[in-house]
Amino acid sequence: MEQKDCIFCKIAKGEIPARVIHEDDLVVAFDDINPVAPVHFLVVPREHVATLDDAAEGHALLLGHMLWTAARLAREKGVAEGGYRQVINCREAGGQVVPHLHLHILGGRQMRRMG
Ligand code: 5GP
Ligand code: ZN
Repeated sequence: MEQKDCIFCKIAKGEIPARVIHEDDLVVAFDDINPVAPVHFLVVPREHVATLDDAAEGHALLLGHMLWTAARLAREKGVAEGGYRQVINCREAGGQVVPHLHLHILGGRQMRRMG
C-alpha cells in the first residue's frame, strides 16, 4: 500500500500539509505547491502506484475516477467552459519527478500547442 518516505502518500494521509480541495475513498486533490498556471492542482490516488505504467487492469476504475473527479473539480474552479488541460507525466523522459501517480489539472490561461 503506502510507500515509506513518499511525499504524496504522506499528503494523502494528512502527514504533510497541503491545500486539499477534495478527498474521497480513492483519491485526494490538492493545489500544486509550484503552480505553472492560475489553476494548477493534482489528483492522486490514495494507493501508492508509482507511475501510470505501473497501473494494472484492476486500476482502470481508479484511473477513470481520477479523470472524472478532475473534470468535476475543474468545473468547480470555473475553468471548464473556457477549457483546461489534464496531464500525466510518466517516468523520467515524460517529466515525472514525484514517483507516485498523479494527474495535473492546468487552467486559467491559454495552453501552448504541444506540437
Ligand atoms: P511531476 O513533474 O512529477 O509530474 O509533478 C510533480 C508536481 O508535484 C510538481 O508540479 C510539483 O510542484 C508538485 N509537488 C512536489 N512536491 C509537492 C508538495 O510537497 N506539495 C505539493 N502541493 N505539491 C508538490
Ligand atoms: Zn506514494
